[in-house]
Amino acid sequence: RFDKDYGQHILKNPGISDAIVDKAYLKPTDVVVEVGPGTGNITVRALEKAKKVIAIELDPRMGAEVTKRVQGTPLAKKLEVILGDVIKMPQMPPCDALISNTPYQISSPLIFKMLAMPNPPRVAVLMFQREFAKRLVARPGDALYSRLSVNVNFWATCKHIMKVGKQNFKPPPKVESDVVRIEPLIGSARPNVAFEEFDGLLRIVFNRKNKTLRSAFCVKEVLSMCERNYKVYCTLNNIPVDESIIDNASADAAMDGMDVDMDVDDDADEDMAADEDEEDMPTFFQDLKDTESSKEAGKTPSRNPKSKVALIVRAKVLKVLSSTGLSETRARQCDQNDFLKVLLAFHEEGIHFS
Ligand code: SAM
Repeated sequence: RFDKDYGQHILKNPGISDAIVDKAYLKPTDVVVEVGPGTGNITVRALEKAKKVIAIELDPRMGAEVTKRVQGTPLAKKLEVILGDVIKMPQMPPCDALISNTPYQISSPLIFKMLAMPNPPRVAVLMFQREFAKRLVARPGDALYSRLSVNVNFWATCKHIMKVGKQNFKPPPKVESDVVRIEPLIGSARPNVAFEEFDGLLRIVFNRKNKTLRSAFCVKEVLSMCERNYKVYCTLNNIPVDESIIDNASADAAMDGMDVDMDVDDDADEDMAADEDEEDMPTFFQDLKDTESSKEAGKTPSRNPKSKVALIVRAKVLKVLSSTGLSETRARQCDQNDFLKVLLAFHEEGIHFS
């Protein structure tokens, strides 16, 4: 009867449905969004406390169940059921509170979708698989510290509420669950940077979280992206961009006075996940090294031609990282304030990530 592909594990312990709704501290004026109402165990409790519940359900059979459950009662007029995939909706409906016994497949996209809302809800009470909940509350240095942990702690505060054993569900899932309470920072408390910018930076550094920030940035694709975005910034701000291909002498001249570390960072440590990027790193510095060593030997350096703007962007990247003092720090050790400091320094240099 229940579809595992939809993550359907129905709460059979009414005490837990009560606790989830209680922990949202709903007001009678609140509009609540519930993701995945299923048969409506949490929905009816929220309907009793709030002005309105918008229940978003992927499975039309479940949508019909929850509608039927309140039919003919005063709660019916407070319920709106939207059939569809919450993740595919262009925007989540505005609301005061978000609640969900979250289908495990959408845990991460649901959190990101909520945090990216320009006007997020005041509170979210969400049930997740335990491993995922631990990632939400992970701190710098913890094994589970990730891009998700940084975003949650930057845009919100997150608190563990309770553990829920698998026997409380029908059918029981394979793993235990946890309920967390997330309070997004709203109004003037919300950080004054674009979500896509902060998250864009985190994507780069957490692709290689065990590498130094310098290593994470000194990858061909990352530098190309910085260059593309820098050119857009220049166009928008009427700053001339010099795209001329630079000859070796000009490359040397362009490097004069730039605080560029010529060493290849062969930081051979444990981040295997993104190791395919490793081979790009020598390329990034190699042409500079070639220039230097050939200069010493009085030869013509052999290297890939570069545009002037590419050299300028790479120098800006290295300057930002060294000026923030975080060049040799690893993403897994940085907290959200460190990442904000780096982001703002990049913005000062006209380099953006979205
Ligand atoms: N709220 C009910 C309860 O606690 O008893 C059911 C929770 S069950 C874990 C998850 C529900 O989310 C299911 O009803 C499933 O059909 C629905 N669902 C799964 N993926 C979804 C999606 N992408 N968007 C909206 N609903 C989804």
